[in-house]
Amino acid sequence: MLLGDNTRTYKFALGHALLESASSGKTHVTLEELARIYSLEMAKHSEYPQGPSVDPSSTSDMLSILARERETTLQAGQPTELLVQAAMKSMPGMVMQKFHNIPDGFVRDFDFYSLEKVNGLQVVKFSNQLMQVASSPDLTVLKDELFSRWNIVEASFSPEIGGTLRIQGVVASADREFLELRRDVAGANMLRRPQIARLRPALTGFQSGLCFHCEQPLSDMPETPHVDHVIARAYVARKFLISDFWRGVEIDGVWNLVVSHAHCNISKRDKPPTAKMLQDLRTRNDLAIRSNVPVSQTIRIVTKSPSDRFYGQLRDALREGGVSV
Ligand SMILES: [Zn+2]
Repeated sequence: MLLGDNTRTYKFALGHALLESASSGKTHVTLEELARIYSLEMAKHSEYPQGPSVDPSSTSDMLSILARERETTLQAGQPTELLVQAAMKSMPGMVMQKFHNIPDGFVRDFDFYSLEKVNGLQVVKFSNQLMQVASSPDLTVLKDELFSRWNIVEASFSPEIGGTLRIQGVVASADREFLELRRDVAGANMLRRPQIARLRPALTGFQSGLCFHCEQPLSDMPETPHVDHVIARAYVARKFLISDFWRGVEIDGVWNLVVSHAHCNISKRDKPPTAKMLQDLRTRNDLAIRSNVPVSQTIRIVTKSPSDRFYGQLRDALREGGVSV
């Protein structure tokens, strides 16, 4: 679920349904019970598009039924019967098989569940490993992580940020409320202005939902979190215009953008970054690079991987400008 090269987000819904069911102490549930949790969660998330269409027709059935039933499902707070039936039909052949696919290089010698027929009912039996995870003290962390990753993957699929992001990268516009796709190399006008709100969940996910500056949960505050430059644009313009390093480094790139409380961002203003901020930024970026979402490619284009050279040069450039980092 967390490692997969996800082109769709069904795995997250299934992961959520499994954790919910297994953490209640049950060792098995009917497929229908699992499908109810699964399809309600899919409905909550289906305002986002899914990845490129690659799946067989059973999947698109589920998606088109989801589109039709979403409104009613959300209003009722429970999935419609039609949606549950569609989920039950598509799950065994699709997401329940793919859930066990993980990338090469990772060892998995067990399954999390098995699907069996008991007295004519389809029953999902949880493995000991799943029961262990679901009763672990880390369950809350894992659940949070699941939704963070889900947000990251979803944000990557949004039409504004999706495919083109891989190649062109994203820069923030001056008003910080929008992101712009970079112009292509030839200077042709590729400019679009998708809402930054679409990228915010992705960045928030890599920060585990915490404010970059004070490290308290972003959800603690009713205010909309800000997307903030770690190395402030105005500061660089003032201090470092002549430094070679900054040529070719996009200060508005995702690598330099973090999510913070509005008041934490405002109190920081255009102050120079601290050594800790640089270290935290690097940690966030290196984490993002290791994931399989388009935003990782955007960061990798700038910092390269491994990123030692980039951050070494960045630190030197800042020191040249009198910043102690
Ligand atoms: Zn804060």
